[in-house]
Amino acid sequence: MFDSKNIKIYNSLTNQLEQFVPLKENEISMYVCGPTVYNHMHIGNARPVIFFDTVKRFFKHIGYKVTYASNFTDIDDKIIKAALSEGVSEDVITTRYIKAFLDACEAVGCEMDVIRPKVTENIPAILEFIEKLVDNGNAYVSGDDVYFKVSSDPKYGVLSNQKLDELELGARIDVNEGKLDPRDFTLWKKTSDIGKKWDSAFGSGRPGWHTECVVMIRKIFGGLIDIHGGGTDLRFPHHENEIAQNYCLHNDYLANYWVHNARLDLRGEKMSKSLGNVVWLKDIIKEYHPNAFRLAILANHYRQVINYQDDMMRQMQGEWEKIEKLYVSVFRKLELQDALNDGDVLDVMNEFLTEMAYDFNTANAITHMYSLMKKMNADVRRNDLGVDILQSEFKTFKDMLYVLGINVDINPLSNEEKTLVIDWQNARKNKDFEKADELRNKINELGIRL
Ligand SMILES: [Zn+2]
Repeated sequence: MFDSKNIKIYNSLTNQLEQFVPLKENEISMYVCGPTVYNHMHIGNARPVIFFDTVKRFFKHIGYKVTYASNFTDIDDKIIKAALSEGVSEDVITTRYIKAFLDACEAVGCEMDVIRPKVTENIPAILEFIEKLVDNGNAYVSGDDVYFKVSSDPKYGVLSNQKLDELELGARIDVNEGKLDPRDFTLWKKTSDIGKKWDSAFGSGRPGWHTECVVMIRKIFGGLIDIHGGGTDLRFPHHENEIAQNYCLHNDYLANYWVHNARLDLRGEKMSKSLGNVVWLKDIIKEYHPNAFRLAILANHYRQVINYQDDMMRQMQGEWEKIEKLYVSVFRKLELQDALNDGDVLDVMNEFLTEMAYDFNTANAITHMYSLMKKMNADVRRNDLGVDILQSEFKTFKDMLYVLGINVDINPLSNEEKTLVIDWQNARKNKDFEKADELRNKINELGIRL
């Protein structure tokens, strides 16, 4: 039997597979760093969105109450730049891309029960947090800017496995004259540009990027959470800096389990805006079904790099079509017998969930779904089988699809439509091909999928 208390997670904080113990029994608190809203979502950004939605669905399915939050970074130099180049306000840019982001999430099957705080709505709390760090000696004012003093945190480097004195300078750390130490990072910066700014004890300006998530987590969850997620590119410096700020004031690592998904490369190359090889999710889901894209993400273990290829997408489109075809045919078969009620869940669900519980192995879980589908494909063609068997298979299939976030849209038939389909089946059985063709045409005209 599957045991919902036996879950293992690879924790980036310890670099180990660990037994998962939630802070509160049967409850999960999760936070995933969200987008900076100045452009559309590219397929690499979509990976954590889809993966962590699947993690959430898994926990919900096995009976946990999940609280999931993900922020919008709606203050950023890139937003200001986009606003300037279009001659519009920053709000026009952020409103547009928040909507585009939410539409894309919904399109790829993400549940929308997510708490989504914005930076612009949390400035007083962010300032209060920065002031505390200054008072505590963990941050300092230099000119009109405020920096976090990395050397004040002896644990700095705990997440990215780096020693303080080995931190590589310059490459990913911005070297700035106002800093006492190049490793220090900006908490608040004075701005005189036309971008949004707020008055503060440190002068008029806006916050740096690394504080918002800490403040939002504390505000939403009250402190330490179970799972903090994001792409592996956020591990350093963003997540390291989140931990440092939080540890200095609250003596914990912000989350008990830090979970990072690997990159998505494009045809063997790192995808980046500077290389100009970015593929937008909105374009891909016009070319392929959104569920095919979702399957492509989940067919790989989250800690493995995905090498996005057109071949892979064509294959996933094929897999999706098989899922849809089978779903529709079983649904109709049960519907025509007025037997759409759920059967008992089959044992293969335990195998599926056991894979999910072992560090969210969606790739292996999907192979269990495919073996169930193989059996269903054979069973749906048989007429000597008790309806309860198909009902159980269908219920199990639906549960798996729920966890994976694959939705199949199908409209139930009206009574007239049912009669039409049954008449067509009888005509075929009786080899009355002329009548069968005529009824089949009607079925097609009505757009009924069988
Ligand atoms: Zn963050």
